[in-house]
Amino acid sequence: MAKCVMVLYPDPVDGYPPKYARDSIPTIKSYPDGSTVPSPSSIDFTPGELLGCVSGALGLRKFFEDGGHELVVTSDKDGPDSEFERELVDADIVISQPFWPAYLTKERIDKAPNLKLALTAGIGSDHVDLDAAQQRGITVAEVTYSNSISVAEHAVMQILTLVRSFVPSHRWAAEGGWNIADCVEHAYDLEGMDVGVIAAGRIGRAVLRRLAPFDVNLHYTDTRRLSPDVEKQLNVTFHPDVESLVRSVDVVSVHSPLYDATRQMFNERLLGTMRRGSYIVNTARGEETVPEAIAAALRSGQLAGYAGDVWYPQPPPADHPWRTMPNNAMTPHVSGTTLSAQARYAAGTREILESFFAGTTIRPEYLIVEGGKLAGTGALSYQK
Ligand code: NDP
Repeated sequence: MAKCVMVLYPDPVDGYPPKYARDSIPTIKSYPDGSTVPSPSSIDFTPGELLGCVSGALGLRKFFEDGGHELVVTSDKDGPDSEFERELVDADIVISQPFWPAYLTKERIDKAPNLKLALTAGIGSDHVDLDAAQQRGITVAEVTYSNSISVAEHAVMQILTLVRSFVPSHRWAAEGGWNIADCVEHAYDLEGMDVGVIAAGRIGRAVLRRLAPFDVNLHYTDTRRLSPDVEKQLNVTFHPDVESLVRSVDVVSVHSPLYDATRQMFNERLLGTMRRGSYIVNTARGEETVPEAIAAALRSGQLAGYAGDVWYPQPPPADHPWRTMPNNAMTPHVSGTTLSAQARYAAGTREILESFFAGTTIRPEYLIVEGGKLAGTGALSYQK
């Protein structure tokens, strides 16, 4: 029998939904690289249900109960008195989502001698101290590709939201006004602009593909260059580094993993090299920026807009500068947790758990750390 602590975001403030806006979600059979969507032996939820909150329990409550395991589900995750920290001491498995991350620091890992598996229901395991996990022989896994397209759609939406100045126009309409000049004094067309992505991985490439029909000039930088065929197909210009990319574009969309090389990448110096009036959309990780520098660049006009859904910490404090900075279109961390994405990563979480309990191999694309070292996708994404 194993004990699993699952840290999920709280239920909706007006209660778990009795019904949904749509009766079904489309069936996706494979991802753009040809890999298959999660394939657990079965699922105990209806795709399209709210699974990522405490009552949803990732649709796994019956699975744990049937296996005779103990399951604790909580949203109380921060501080030494939190339910998470109390339950962690004899947990074998921790499951958490990047949207509401249970930070697994070295100190917390030291308090959990039984911990064997840290599972990210979603993508991005930087909330786990990966060095400490390697030292302790803890397996870290995530559901690769499960929400990559969800995030790409959100990034494209936020690029348009900023450039077209959607937020102030919506506010005028919602508040009973009709002041066109106020709505459009900050609005442009995306057509003809230079748009670049930092990192052309699963999400970055999907963003490039989705932006191509907008008749923009596409740019990218990545540690590994795309094949000449793909570059030609997307009509995209390669830049050897972030510095070269950001001074060549009007809009930057950030899709690089968070690690030493990208931490605080968007600081005052880099922002100062960008074209005046640039836009940044960051759906990668909040710590790839210096938040105060972003707010200052918006106030000075060096940036025309900033949007994204990733912050640090999460949830951020009420006085976080991004809540009130001008020309922002921030959302909470929601891009990768649409009801459509939840169905995939809940199924993927179950697939990983089935392998873990059966002692069989976890798909390499789901692995971040295994056997004391970076493995699978982790060896590609989190290399030093
Ligand atoms: P991938 O691993 O597919 O792609 C990441 C790409 O970044 C790789 O091509 C990698 O190159 C490249 N890269 C690594 N370091 C750098 C660098 N310093 N500069 C430029 N490129 C770099 O990841 P995904 O596209 O699936 O996800 C990207 C990130 O998005 C995740 O790490 C996660 O933090 C975030 N994310 C956010 C979500 C959300 O809900 N907002 C949900 C899912 C992910 P190489 O292969 O050579 O290492």
